[in-house]
Amino acid sequence: MSGTCPRCRYARNKKAGGKLLHGIPEVTDSKQLREVLVRIDRNLRQDEALMQDETASFIMGVLEAKIGGKEYFLVASSGRNPDPWIEKKHLDGITYHPGAWETVNPQVPERHTGWWTVRNENVDLDTSIRSVSNPCAAIKLLLGLGRKKPAWKSVEYLRMSEMVFVGRAADDPSKRQWHGKGATSSWTAHSCDACEARIPYLICDVPANQIVD
Ligand SMILES: [Zn+2]
Ligand SMILES: [Zn+2]
Repeated sequence: MSGTCPRCRYARNKKAGGKLLHGIPEVTDSKQLREVLVRIDRNLRQDEALMQDETASFIMGVLEAKIGGKEYFLVASSGRNPDPWIEKKHLDGITYHPGAWETVNPQVPERHTGWWTVRNENVDLDTSIRSVSNPCAAIKLLLGLGRKKPAWKSVEYLRMSEMVFVGRAADDPSKRQWHGKGATSSWTAHSCDACEARIPYLICDVPANQIVD
């Protein structure tokens, strides 16, 4: 995630007039966010209906951001199900900013068009991106943040962590690549090629009217 921004074509870290041009030059994760995921994972494992569901295998994602002085604490799970895997009832007992977490489940666009940034500005993605419609947790978090229409003065921080949830399907060999040897969820960094290509567009906060075609 370095070099030139695919959306605005400015350098990702370049400063303009002493100010950072991109408020979010890259996405980082944190120990606190990983601990939030551990708690959600534990809550999900208490959910018997979920643990009975053979299809319950997905990515959990959490995001924290402070933008223009306002804090955001978002949770998302991958997949196109209208009812997301992670529900409000799975957010109990989080000790990091307890009670502040909320789930988001935006509709991930099916094509290269119709996307929006964390600043809620429309953006079209490059047509060369394959699997552009993958409903990944990271993408849902960024789209979900955008739909909150943050008042964009300055970005204090934006962090995101992801974890794989493997429930009943833990013994499915096709899922083994995600979770290593154990039957529990893992930290395996999830960044598919489509995310690598899409995230830079979504985190670009250079205003559309400053982009020269
Ligand atoms: Zn940009
Ligand atoms: Zn992905």
